[in-house]
Amino acid sequence: MKRTYLITLCLLASLFSMAQTQVVAHRGYWRTEGSAQNSLASYRHADRIGCYGSEIDVWITRDGTVMVNHDPGYKGVVLETATTSEAKALVLSNGEHMPTLEEYLQTAKKGKAKLVIEIKTHKDLWRQNVCVDKVLELVKKYKMTKRVDYIAFSYAAVLRLIEKAPKGTEVYYLSGDKSPAELKAVGCTGPDYNENVFLTKHPEWLNEFKQLGLKINVWTVDSEENLRYFIKNGVEFITTNEPELLQKLLKE
Ligand code: MG
Repeated sequence: MKRTYLITLCLLASLFSMAQTQVVAHRGYWRTEGSAQNSLASYRHADRIGCYGSEIDVWITRDGTVMVNHDPGYKGVVLETATTSEAKALVLSNGEHMPTLEEYLQTAKKGKAKLVIEIKTHKDLWRQNVCVDKVLELVKKYKMTKRVDYIAFSYAAVLRLIEKAPKGTEVYYLSGDKSPAELKAVGCTGPDYNENVFLTKHPEWLNEFKQLGLKINVWTVDSEENLRYFIKNGVEFITTNEPELLQKLLKE
């Protein structure tokens, strides 16, 4: 009896350690008809094909609205210094107007895919702090806490998220310059590092992060060769512009 129990435990443990890599669509699934980076359509497409997560980038306007867009500005309008109405009037390449985070949360609430929210590095740290706080408030308002992971290049944003987000919230650091021990020490969920950090700069970090029990996300992996490499190395998440290719490789 004891032996059967032990064997079951071992089997379960090996199953957990073999957990499959999850697919995160970079800026949503935008390389498909009718979509555009960071559009509501890009979330719906990521959700439709069954991605684990859909990544988006956020900025706060000078009057306190969180907008979804990658670059600091769009068509000459700088989001940090723009008003809400100036930002909302911007039209994306698929014809949608630039979404607010609130619209994004309403859309994601109807889907299954998680949102991976990247807090962009604002020029003004105070504004960036306001952005972090506002994002957390909106996610709470829409009862989406368990369906949102956070990422940021700014270490200040990462530390603020770790301090202020509800316990259990996953927060990843993007810049690639902190060691496994450093991220572990501050309570970060793990790295979300550029593929080259693991491929060339610090190949040893893949094992070191695993040994410390941190989860690994890698961006932005688009080539088949590199996708295969990270699947083989058992990273928890791959962020890609080619979610359907990654899904195909994961089924092999
Ligand atoms: Mg991003």
